[in-house]
Amino acid sequence: MSNVPEMYGSLVFNDKVMRTKLPKDVYKALHKTIEKNTHLEVDIANAVAVAMKEWAVENGATHFTHWFQPLTGFTAEKHDSFISPTENGGVLMEFSGKELIKGEPDASSFPSGGLRATCEARGYTAWDPTSPAFIKDGTLCIPTAFCSYSGEALDKKTPLLRSMDALSKEATKLLHLIGNTAVDSVVTTVGPEQEYFLINKEDFAKRRDLVFTGRTLLGSPAPKGQEMEDHYFGMLKTRVSEYMKDLDAELWKLGIPAKTKHNEVAPCQHELAPIFDTTNVAVDHNQLTMEMMKKVAERHGYVCLLHEKPFAGINGSGKHNNWSMSTNTGVNLLDPGKTPAENTQFLVFLAAVIKAVDDYADLMRLSVASAGNDHRLGANEAPPAIISIFLGDELTAVIESIEKDEFFHTSENVSMEMGANVIPHFTRDTTDRNRTSPFAFTGNKFEFRSLGSSASVAGPNTYLNTAVAEVLSQFTAKLEGTPADQMEKAIHDLIRDTIIAHKRVIFNGNGYSEEWVEEAEKRGLYNLRSTPEVLPKFLDAKNIELFTKHGVYTEAEMHSRHEIKLEKYCKTLHIEGKTLQSMLYQEFMPAVAKYIDSLAASITARKAACASISCGSVEKQLEKISGLYEELAVLAEKLDAAVAEAEAMEDLEALATFYHETVIGAMEAARKVADEIEVYMPEDFMPYPTYTDMLFYV
Ligand code: ADP
Ligand code: MG
Repeated sequence: MSNVPEMYGSLVFNDKVMRTKLPKDVYKALHKTIEKNTHLEVDIANAVAVAMKEWAVENGATHFTHWFQPLTGFTAEKHDSFISPTENGGVLMEFSGKELIKGEPDASSFPSGGLRATCEARGYTAWDPTSPAFIKDGTLCIPTAFCSYSGEALDKKTPLLRSMDALSKEATKLLHLIGNTAVDSVVTTVGPEQEYFLINKEDFAKRRDLVFTGRTLLGSPAPKGQEMEDHYFGMLKTRVSEYMKDLDAELWKLGIPAKTKHNEVAPCQHELAPIFDTTNVAVDHNQLTMEMMKKVAERHGYVCLLHEKPFAGINGSGKHNNWSMSTNTGVNLLDPGKTPAENTQFLVFLAAVIKAVDDYADLMRLSVASAGNDHRLGANEAPPAIISIFLGDELTAVIESIEKDEFFHTSENVSMEMGANVIPHFTRDTTDRNRTSPFAFTGNKFEFRSLGSSASVAGPNTYLNTAVAEVLSQFTAKLEGTPADQMEKAIHDLIRDTIIAHKRVIFNGNGYSEEWVEEAEKRGLYNLRSTPEVLPKFLDAKNIELFTKHGVYTEAEMHSRHEIKLEKYCKTLHIEGKTLQSMLYQEFMPAVAKYIDSLAASITARKAACASISCGSVEKQLEKISGLYEELAVLAEKLDAAVAEAEAMEDLEALATFYHETVIGAMEAARKVADEIEVYMPEDFMPYPTYTDMLFYV
């Protein structure tokens, strides 16, 4: 990987390739489609297809696929080869504009949440020219949107693109109104920081819980966890470093700008961050990054765990969604500049985001809800379930001065004195970091920190874009018709009124503290702790109104997504319950029984060898383990009963609540006793690798 610039994007049909491969007029027409969202003519598509195929074949591809993101949250692909037989028994490599633009996968086995009956299996994939095609594993992958025969979105990309359009439209309108008429469009940008665990392949294969659920359902903590704080940013182990280098190279080839990598807080936990891109591309890239993390891990004898909470007692994994808005004239609308108090445009957009997050806090929370993420939010390792905004000292002071109609004195840049002359002096950032805030302003962007590590970032960004688009449209409605000479005052009043109405969502303190929970309740903020509690909010009238007004989801699409989310939660918990049963009955309890028998046999043998021998300590051990074993057996039966009861339930919302309130409790109770027994179990009696094996011998 000596020549990074040469390697970078070498498997991507990017602008550089298009420029050299496409006839000039075709290149121009395609560019117009990408930039201005215009319709693409068939002859242009044909010409692009020819060039794309030529380039792909030159780079070793034999197949093509429409790559899409169904509502499973994963990506899907069905490969077709380019071959087309000739009369003389040979083949030609062919690919048409029609094949590029449209695909027809049998859609019946993807979740549709009732949008499509199984008998109407037809679904379509449609080329998204705004995300470049790429080659993966000898296949030309064409990013596509996926919809049903009747046009409803069956994927995550379509609503995301719609939300980006909505935001662009509303932001542009407002910018024109406040005097910035040079802007034609606004994009949202995203840089997702991705956390993950690496463990040895052999250990993974021996743990049914990891294989079936991605997290450990049993296992007592190793003697050491993360308390020494020696892993975060620590030196990379050689093997891990080799993995990361290999991963970087694979991502770079795909044009994914992987930038930062480091060890995270928990043992075996790491993070990768790319340089931000437009939201659509960033979402595709994040899906590819997760896929590559898993693929490259295999080559290095690892398994990459992306679950939000693979191990109890140490941190789980999240994803930080850095988000901003940028004009086509190259201005980041959330960049305060040197004097934020005088930057009206910035303050308008800042106020809009604050209001959007407050008005739609339920949606923000919902966008990150999953069975896996429930283990993190509010568990003092990830932001709390309460959605609030961190602004930092300077912006808070700016906002307070606006609220009170006072003049704001720009704080002087504070120069950092490290007390040693050899260290270069630098100016201090005006915002400190606050790791406990779910939605933090970090200089020129917001960082939404509540996302789970395994989930697609499409949903949270779709919701956020739409909520902000809505507030921008409200702002426009307020300001429209204001005479030019009163506009400045009207904007000022709008910012002030918005801040007064929504400052309750701003919180710069410690989000992990109990006081904040109480304070948030007083402020009337939501504290929606679990997925079953938050999911029904999706269908609240105000949320249906939001998404349908901006054309992001139809009401039918919302109902389908609601059902899919509920189903996914229930299925996840069902699999976890069954997996724990199987581990208890087929692996752990027989192992404990064997150990009990061996203790009993040892007592008998010792007494037979010497009648006067004292076996007190062994007897005590036998008594203790036997007692715990009996306790565990009772709890295992309770788990059986809970799982059986769940299996008999029909109503999805009630079922989700039952899983949350009863099945999880039954699982945790059984685990608690099993983990207690594990502490006393000799290693060679353990039927699967322990936390110590998995986390400290990688
Ligand atoms: P921090 O260390 O404060 O988290 P970084 O500069 O390391 O900030 O950025 C973290 C992530 O935020 C990176 O992926 C980066 O590309 C992304 N980012 C920076 N600016 C923007 C922006 N304007 N929009 C979206 N993401 C951004
Ligand atoms: Mg960060």
